[in-house]
Amino acid sequence: MSNCLFCKIRDGQIPSKIVYKDDLCLGFEDINPQAPTHVLFIPLKHIATANDVAMEDRELVGHLYTAAARLAQQRGHADKGYRLVMNCNDDAGQTVFHLHLHLIAGRPMGWPPG
Ligand code: 5GP
Ligand code: ZN
Repeated sequence: MSNCLFCKIRDGQIPSKIVYKDDLCLGFEDINPQAPTHVLFIPLKHIATANDVAMEDRELVGHLYTAAARLAQQRGHADKGYRLVMNCNDDAGQTVFHLHLHLIAGRPMGWPPG
């Protein structure tokens, strides 16, 4: 997708602080962190929203969760806990239409979300 912000981050056209990379996904620091750890995990493949996840992408989406949990563990958040969030479309507040999983950690969080 030529006009996608996260595809541009993936391709290095827009700078970001990359903290995780493998053959399927990329993790980088959120530009507007909501907690001491706020990292976005994206598939290298462009998928717009959770609505667009095809059956063939099931392992890829699971991979995002595994990568995020691994980084949470490395940063010492596993015991106290953390939040993994994937917003879909307007009501959930999705603003960038390249699938991404938020890893948010390092402070207590309220529930239910606003
Ligand atoms: P959403 O609201 O779509 O679930 O999350 C999009 C996230 O992308 C937001 O938390 C926002 O701060 C982050 N973001 C937006 N633009 C940029 C950018 O240019 N670089 C980085 N690293 N994060 C961004
Ligand atoms: Zn994209």
